[in-house]
Amino acid sequence: FNHQLAELRDAPAITRDGVRVELFANSGLTADIMPGLINGAEGLGLYRTEIPFMVRETFPSEDEQCALYSEVIAAYTDKPVYMRVLDVGSDKPLPYFPISEENPALGWRGIRFCLDNSPLLLTQIRAMLRAGVGHGNLNIILPMVSSFSELRDFHVLVTEAMAQLESEGVQTQRPRMGIMVEVPAAISQLPKWRELIDFVSIGSNDLSQYVLAVDRNNPRVAGRYDHLHPAVIAEIERIVSIAGQLQLPVSLCGELSSDPHAVILMVALGMRRLSMSAARLPLVKWLLRAMDTREAKRVYDEALGAADADAVRAITTTYLTRLE
Ligand code: PEP
Ligand code: MG
Repeated sequence: FNHQLAELRDAPAITRDGVRVELFANSGLTADIMPGLINGAEGLGLYRTEIPFMVRETFPSEDEQCALYSEVIAAYTDKPVYMRVLDVGSDKPLPYFPISEENPALGWRGIRFCLDNSPLLLTQIRAMLRAGVGHGNLNIILPMVSSFSELRDFHVLVTEAMAQLESEGVQTQRPRMGIMVEVPAAISQLPKWRELIDFVSIGSNDLSQYVLAVDRNNPRVAGRYDHLHPAVIAEIERIVSIAGQLQLPVSLCGELSSDPHAVILMVALGMRRLSMSAARLPLVKWLLRAMDTREAKRVYDEALGAADADAVRAITTTYLTRLE
């Protein structure tokens, strides 16, 4: 079976009824870059810049960041790269910048942390822009966005970084910019934010946590966390529908994108770009090539009516078993 999966590398991810789905890789470590390409990733859908920050003892300098990002951008040179600005706080602590909070999941994390430490963010933006020079494949993603002002403030910093670099003789291109949809507040606001974003990427891990109000790192309640909860699926359908109306490219980059149960549902509701850890790509491609979207839509209608996540899983299991 593994041998069969390896042979799929260069085959397109296309369902039996001809629906094309783009498969991207998630990464954060340099060691993850090649496996994505080896497994046929069509782009780097989520580069988590906090990972290199977390494995160090101090903040990396602009030059160190630039070297790292250049390697990533060059490896995917003819493919899109989505680099996320530092997403620390909560479950992703920086050993050399401790944050102690009563409610970290609702606290100082993602874009909130970045904007409140703007010299740090400006340095990161400069490093990304420098790394992108001459490639044209850089897209920047903002994590945990919950308000318009965060987008506006970020744009101001990008403009500043570009002006600084220009005065230093480095001609940069304005990167495409987008957001993670992972705070539920973002969903209804997308039309108002449209002018400031080029794309959205759904972070189903955090989105599930906030839609269900379950801290997945709290052992008392973690068992209640399930990304197949019908309420999560319904919110994703809403995002895809709003994004479609706004002609806003949408992708999915949380754990849902490589859960076979969820892949059926995601394709049924219209998701056409999935980003996942490199190791999962062959399995998801195999599944896509085995499934039929018309059948998946019937499974989806049944699943949306299910009482809870277990019932959803029972419905998708029936379909998955038929494919094998
Ligand atoms: C997510 O929240 O689904 C996501 C992709 O971001 P992270 O897992 O890095 O928080
Ligand atoms: Mg997240």
